[in-house]
Amino acid sequence: MAVPGNPTSATPRCKAPVNLLGLPQEKLERFFADLGEPRYRARQVMQWIHQRGVTDFQRMTDLSKPLRARLAQVAEVRPPRREAEQISADGTRKWLVRLDDGEAVEMVWIPDDGRGTLCVSSQVGCALDCSFCATGKQGFNRNLSAAEIVGQLWLALDAFGKFGPRPDRPVTNVVLMGMGEPLLNFENVVDALSLMLHDWAYGLSKRRVTLSTAGLVPQIDALGDRVDVSLAISLHAPNDPLRDRLVPLNRKYPLSELIAAARRYLAKMPDQHRRITVEYTLIEDVNDHPGHARQLAALLRELPCKINLIPFNPFPGSHYRRVSDEALERFRTLLLREGYTVTVRTPRGGRHRRRLRPTRGALPRSDATKGTP
Ligand code: SF4
Repeated sequence: MAVPGNPTSATPRCKAPVNLLGLPQEKLERFFADLGEPRYRARQVMQWIHQRGVTDFQRMTDLSKPLRARLAQVAEVRPPRREAEQISADGTRKWLVRLDDGEAVEMVWIPDDGRGTLCVSSQVGCALDCSFCATGKQGFNRNLSAAEIVGQLWLALDAFGKFGPRPDRPVTNVVLMGMGEPLLNFENVVDALSLMLHDWAYGLSKRRVTLSTAGLVPQIDALGDRVDVSLAISLHAPNDPLRDRLVPLNRKYPLSELIAAARRYLAKMPDQHRRITVEYTLIEDVNDHPGHARQLAALLRELPCKINLIPFNPFPGSHYRRVSDEALERFRTLLLREGYTVTVRTPRGGRHRRRLRPTRGALPRSDATKGTP
């Protein structure tokens, strides 16, 4: 059976159609080479799919009729389905995205100051079990294919009816901060990222595409060799004993190794002004004391970075509490005095202005930490 995103199984001999939505340039060129077609077919088809939102080969009018008929036999363009949408008073939109096997993930679009940021998922569930994360409590189910990851961007543009010239696009930024640890789904995530950046596809700026990781050191090194996107690290603690409790992955890759990997990642970037985003979820009486802020400031001294503070969002079954406004402000001020750029993620999407189409089951609960505000 053909595996989407894997052109080695994508020859015309395979019975199952190949989903072209998730194939980046090189894999699509190989797919067309297997059909005896020239390489430039990849550019034509990428532009139809990703820039014009066309999924029907019959509408790809610069392909010959015989080729369109052949493609209809061996391939398809199949995004996941948008099953439910919630629009909040502040304009934030959340979509339930239904996958072929019935699993669902959430994607969120956040409008802000002329920008539109889409937060996409990379896995169904997550294996890393961070102690403050609702997704981690669900456990791991499966990786998303490249088509299912980039398909979330395709779906968002489709929802807005905004395929077309780039300046009009409602999605200016993409963050892989939804469900899952992206670097544990490495190859599919790299394929999806390369489509998001590619001029024949979405053409997003590398500064506006951000991958957030809990800190898989070897994969951070590998990522820097494969694709040039912004990197965020989910830190949440300024010392190893505390981070061991909050992010169990820290027992394998402690803070010193993670910070060193982030520095190596920056060193590989051609643009030397890039900075790492450090995400720090503030939990009352766990990691929100002034001493933690001072430790964090010392820890990050050698890392070009900006710090994003995220008030913990309580969920049923969690014993953690949201940071108080006073502790949040104290923490922020201490970091500012140490010379850091600090942002605070404001809660978004709280009150629903309207709900379109009845949901078949509730939207999955937002990840308490990553992306979904
Ligand atoms: S915080 Fe991120 S890495 Fe940790 S369990 Fe949740 S989704 Fe996974």
